Amino acid sequence: MNEAARGAGPRSAVVVGAGIVGLSTAWFLQEHGVRVTVLDRTGVAAGASWGNAGWLSPGLAIPLNEPGVRRAGLTSLLQRDAPLYVPRTADPALWSFLLRFAAHCTWPAWRRVVTANLALNDDCLDAFDTLTRGGVTATTVEAPVTAVFESAGAAGALLAELRRFTAAGARADHTGLTASEVRARLPQLSDRAGAGIELSGQRYADPGRFVRALADSVRHRGGTIRAGFDVRSIRYHRHAVTVVSRDNVSFSANVAVLATGAWISRLAGKLGVRVPVRAGRGYSFTVPTETPLRQPVYLPTVRVACTPYRDAMRVAGTMEFRGPDDPPDERRVQAIVRSAAPFFEGVRWDERGDTWVGPRPVSSDGLPVIGATTEPGVFVAGGHGMWGFTQGPVTGKLLAEHIVTGKQPESLRPFDPLR
Ligand SMILES: Cc1cc2nc3c(=O)[nH]c(=O)nc-3n(C[C@H](O)[C@H](O)[C@H](O)COP(=O)(O)OP(=O)(O)OC[C@H]3O[C@@H](n4cnc5c(N)ncnc54)[C@H](O)[C@@H]3O)c2cc1C
Repeated sequence: MNEAARGAGPRSAVVVGAGIVGLSTAWFLQEHGVRVTVLDRTGVAAGASWGNAGWLSPGLAIPLNEPGVRRAGLTSLLQRDAPLYVPRTADPALWSFLLRFAAHCTWPAWRRVVTANLALNDDCLDAFDTLTRGGVTATTVEAPVTAVFESAGAAGALLAELRRFTAAGARADHTGLTASEVRARLPQLSDRAGAGIELSGQRYADPGRFVRALADSVRHRGGTIRAGFDVRSIRYHRHAVTVVSRDNVSFSANVAVLATGAWISRLAGKLGVRVPVRAGRGYSFTVPTETPLRQPVYLPTVRVACTPYRDAMRVAGTMEFRGPDDPPDERRVQAIVRSAAPFFEGVRWDERGDTWVGPRPVSSDGLPVIGATTEPGVFVAGGHGMWGFTQGPVTGKLLAEHIVTGKQPESLRPFDPLR
């Protein structure tokens, strides 16, 4: 039995995956005096944590597994332009994942996810503040998220969703906006914008910058981050866990945390974690705007998120179920442009840059996997789907507590990887 399993608390940890989840876990382990090494097959923020929309918005962290998604999934098989896309040639493992996912697209399952997520969503912004107060030199910006619709009628679906979300205990303070109110707040909108819903109490950040600053802070506090270390297997000893790279380089520590995002099932599947996680890939790009955007804009009917980004606007969208390492499909980017452009004026869509594709780690039951595996001293953290940036720091905080005390925090119970 290694030190963590004995309850003595580990002295050293190896974290695999340098995304928001892995680095947050490393940072909070350091708070408990644990020596950390973070290994990534590519480098810091190489996965979904770089080009995402950067919203820290617990008020919109509505689970994906609502019953309507089943219908959208069927439509998407026929339409390459649909916000949700499943290629017809999907492999059998993907079909089996999608069937399991579809089985969880019911209101009771949806409510279970909302309830479980309450603990993460209630504390997610505080966890960001702990990081920035503790030396992470990146900012988070307080701003409302405004959802924009063609008409008041079209806003009905999101209003109903928010009603269900708050009835299940979530906090999502929101106000309806008329066409003139929404356009007064957002001069970038065209006259296509006929109504809005403003969610207060949200924030946004530049995710790549934030994750790099987090990595700098982990280093500054004595941690090591190694790029180019592609973990292929994990071995267990009496006193340590050893991870082995594709080139047969090994690294040992008292405990290991696998935080490899959409790739997590490759290693975790052998550690008793039966809930599969697949890549729900999204795309983003940056476009210049004539008037600077000051707050995030959400276009729910086409599932596109727009965020102020370095004096321009980052546009993110689509959910494409393909391999996390598959090449990008430019048609998906064009579909985002076609669906979002009519809502805006003064956006130079042809000058888009920074085009990016990244894999959201989507679990089959809508809940992340956070906690201990069947192997003593080996933990996993991932599968946050659409909301891993928002929930990454609080996940790291709670998991570090679990690892160091040897006791599963009550709020992590629903996310038990061995469920
Ligand atoms: C278009 C888009 C928009 C999004 N917008 C938002 C948003 O606004 N707000 C929000 O909260 N969330 C958002 N998300 C979701 C969020 O980006 C993810 O949930 C989150 O980044 C997942 O973080 P992670 O650390 O688990 O995984 P990742 O960031 O993917 O990190 C995993 C890391 O593991 C490494 N790795 C993988 N396998 C190995 C291996 N075998 N050995 C070593 N290293 C390995 C990878 O290189 C990678 O760096 C969005 C996602 C997308 C795609």
